[in-house]
Amino acid sequence: MRGLMQDWSLLTSKILDHAALYYGDREIVSRSIEGPMHRTTYSEIHSRARRVAKALAREGVREGDRVGTLAWNSWRHLEAWYGIAGLGAVYHTINPRLFPEQIAYIANHAEDKLLFTDLTFVPLLEKIASHLTSIERFVVMTDAAHMPKTSLKKAMAYEDFIAGVDDDFDWATLDENAACGLCYTSGTTGNPKGVLYSHRSNVLHGLAANSADALGLRNRDTILPIVPMFHANAWAIAFAAPMIGAKLVMPGMKLDGPSVYELIETEKVTFSAAVPTVWLMLLQHLEQNNLKLSTLKRVAIGGSACPQSMIEAFEGKYGVEVCHAWGMTEMSPIGTLAMMKAGMEDLPHAERIKIKLKQGRPIFTVEMKIVDDDNKEQPRDGKAFGRLKVRGPAIASGYMKGEGGQVLDAEGFFDTGDVATIDPDGFMQITDRAKDVIKSGGEWISSIEIENFAVGHPAVAEAAVIGLPHPKWDERPLLVCVLKKGASATAADILAYLDGKIAKWWMPDDVAFVDEIPHTATGKIQKVTLREQFKAHKLPTAAE
Ligand code: AMP
Repeated sequence: MRGLMQDWSLLTSKILDHAALYYGDREIVSRSIEGPMHRTTYSEIHSRARRVAKALAREGVREGDRVGTLAWNSWRHLEAWYGIAGLGAVYHTINPRLFPEQIAYIANHAEDKLLFTDLTFVPLLEKIASHLTSIERFVVMTDAAHMPKTSLKKAMAYEDFIAGVDDDFDWATLDENAACGLCYTSGTTGNPKGVLYSHRSNVLHGLAANSADALGLRNRDTILPIVPMFHANAWAIAFAAPMIGAKLVMPGMKLDGPSVYELIETEKVTFSAAVPTVWLMLLQHLEQNNLKLSTLKRVAIGGSACPQSMIEAFEGKYGVEVCHAWGMTEMSPIGTLAMMKAGMEDLPHAERIKIKLKQGRPIFTVEMKIVDDDNKEQPRDGKAFGRLKVRGPAIASGYMKGEGGQVLDAEGFFDTGDVATIDPDGFMQITDRAKDVIKSGGEWISSIEIENFAVGHPAVAEAAVIGLPHPKWDERPLLVCVLKKGASATAADILAYLDGKIAKWWMPDDVAFVDEIPHTATGKIQKVTLREQFKAHKLPTAAE
């Protein structure tokens, strides 16, 4: 027997309709690329998104066509997203931090028909324009007054592009499984692969992200998504915030400590989300200038492991609750959050921190398990390591155009490429990317855990642990550190600091100091490059 409920397609256009109807006057404030702050509302975004859709339709963009965006977080980017998806086309966010050849590769691979770009990226696009084979028009997200002279094909200022149409446009009536958005993984090895979100997956993920033990966004929140819209849907915020009509503060291109601090204080931000490297810049700014955070209540930290020193600084010094989150582009992206369970509130401080250092429990809609090399499920005892596999309605079933082949196992689980433990309370902890795992004497050493402790040393700004070949143990860890400006420490100081915090046999065999650690386009430590950089490094223990 079938249920007798209405057939109401889960479409992203419905999110914006809802925001405009119930929270029409709620603000979206942006630091514009042109410079000044810009203020608009959900109601205006709704109207202008429909104009984007109508202008795109006039250009010949049809259902299923891909429309690229190369842009920072701003009100125009939001309008473009909802306009593209509302027409039934597919927004394709391109990460501007990728190499120019990779940008050309993915724009061509996606067959983007039109591209919305911020002013910032016009010179970059001009350089690669001759390699962009499918784009028929470039729309620069600015007005006529700021429009640069450019050789880009049929370039037009965004404000002119939407000026020629009114907002009398009916959103496309679509199957909820229709493609809605596209985001390529940053691909440290090989070409980036496209993750194709559907309307249904975006709506379901927005709802799941909004649940109280996840991001728990509320109407009275003022949200600063520092995480870019080009990094996996700004971690669901681009859908979750309009669902409840929260005020949005879009940071544009300035993500440095002083700029982020100024936005938080002047706009009275209550919730924000970013990767650890961005938070590090803010915390350093606060520390150096003896500042306080007067309105910020919660921060989501993910994309890389959140170090203990960061949780302690936010919670202990600034009174801001940390939600440590894990996910990936292929998961829309939120998978888990380290939120306390009933009964954990009264645990001693040190125990609570230990729990927060884990990546956490899955949101509803994410199934999760760890398996060994024979795909045998491993116990949830907090000790057994295994490859982390996931399944759910907002998790990729394959990549754009079948790249990478079959990615699901016989039970429909996706291999995240992460190695993790799951404890009896259901908290997952990532120990490494499978390809970065350090195998010493047949046992795994968690590079992430050593890094987390190392950055707790007062002189260390950033740390990375890689495995180097060893004649006796196969591999042994090398700790690579960047020191804070003006700080000094020796290898012996750092090893002494780690002593007692990690198992003896996890102790790095050597410490190297560098000025900079290489990062991927989504802010992760690029261990492939680091291993290459240190391939000639001789560990002092390797001569035994
Ligand atoms: P991306 O798709 O670029 O967001 O990268 C996803 C990968 O980032 C995951 O598979 C993890 O390896 C890593 N990652 C994301 N969040 C965390 C976290 N909280 N702790 C450790 N690694 C993380």
